Amino acid sequence: MSQTLQAVRGMNDILPEEAETWEQFEESIRDWLKAYGYRPIRMPLVEPTPLFKRAIGEVTDIVEKEMYSFEDALNGEHLTLRPEGTASCVRAAIQHKLLHAGPQRLYYYGPMYRHERPQKGRYRQFHQIGVEALGHAGPDIDAELILMCARLWDDLGLEDVRLELNSLGSSDERAAHRQALIAYLEAHRDQLDEDAQRRLYSNPLRILDTKNPDLQALVEAAPKLIDFLGDESLAHFEAVQQVLRDAGQPFRVNPRLVRGLDYYNRTVFEWVTDSLGAQGTICAGGRYDGLIEQLGGKPAPAAGFAMGVERILALWRDAGGVAEAAVPDAYVVHQGEAAGRLAFRVAETLRGHGFAVLMHCGGGSFKSQMKKADASGAPVALVIGEDEAAAAEVSFKPMRGGDQRRIGLDELASELAEQLFAADGDDGGV
Ligand code: ATP
Ligand code: MG
Repeated sequence: MSQTLQAVRGMNDILPEEAETWEQFEESIRDWLKAYGYRPIRMPLVEPTPLFKRAIGEVTDIVEKEMYSFEDALNGEHLTLRPEGTASCVRAAIQHKLLHAGPQRLYYYGPMYRHERPQKGRYRQFHQIGVEALGHAGPDIDAELILMCARLWDDLGLEDVRLELNSLGSSDERAAHRQALIAYLEAHRDQLDEDAQRRLYSNPLRILDTKNPDLQALVEAAPKLIDFLGDESLAHFEAVQQVLRDAGQPFRVNPRLVRGLDYYNRTVFEWVTDSLGAQGTICAGGRYDGLIEQLGGKPAPAAGFAMGVERILALWRDAGGVAEAAVPDAYVVHQGEAAGRLAFRVAETLRGHGFAVLMHCGGGSFKSQMKKADASGAPVALVIGEDEAAAAEVSFKPMRGGDQRRIGLDELASELAEQLFAADGDDGGV
């Protein structure tokens, strides 16, 4: 026998029981996004590699070591499986001139690809919900983005999720801070690890984002960007905080929050939890006023965030958010050729009325079919034998008590509706 094939490492199958939870989550997500006026956009999973190099930055974890890039075997084009959605979303908005119609509130949802070391909460194919507000300049939209996340955590019943906030200022302010930072790091050069040595001149800000425990003290004492912010940046940052305070949303200003992508400026934020171990960031975002111009569009401000669906679902599961398994309204049991044909008609007719009907397939005795009907959880079995087929009727059998009775096809839908309503009433359901 040939060896069985496995999924690619770090890329997961989502089996039915779990996928039902995903679908339920996706339903609440849609309502939530609609409540804030965000509209869906869907971009390809594959983009030209230069898009990500330009948008995310050459000296970043993603571009340096995490991208699935390849050459199109037919035309040699350099392509990449998208590692994130902001670059694609902005590319699409520019390409289709969406901003000509004014600012846009957009969202996307789907798989992203990063070649990382797989572990709990960190996969090579994972899913993000991305929300982008394009063409909006004010601190109001930054605050709205943050508060809409808070509402989602609340809707999902997630607890222990904290908000961390920082401002990266403008590019001039970052340049002044960068100079001071390089001087400081040069003075402590012997303590830097390999990554930090390499990034000292190319991207020193990212050294502050290091996960190396040996560098924490050094990084803690480094010059802080916030001390280099000018009046406008400070006013913007203060305005965001004011809305959060008015809304009663707690937050912590974390001067070390710099984000792993180059395109951010001014407000950046992360939602973190201690309940997921090392992979504690469930959502991250901020303002990226330069990106649209950088990707060839007419200059326009923007802000957004992306959340990691696997991490949020792990938290949601812990909070009891698991979908109930889908149960059919009726299970159709049948035996004999004429009965089989009637069974198809019955099942299709009921589905036409909006019922979920599981039709027994594959034959077998009435007894074994009834066992399957019971196992399906359906509250009603519709039994069709030769007698029923000849009379164009169905034996209507409630599975949890109640009399079995013969019913004509005309009354079947109303009888089933009544039975389901009564069954729900019994156990206090809706
Ligand atoms: P991390 O520091 O955990 O690597 P990041 O800064 O690379 O995160 P972003 O690019 O900001 O992450 O992506 C936004 C969110 O997507 C993260 O906060 C996280 O919830 C999720 N995410 C990122 N990478 C992965 C991954 N490999 N597997 C699962 N979720 C991920
Ligand atoms: Mg990462």
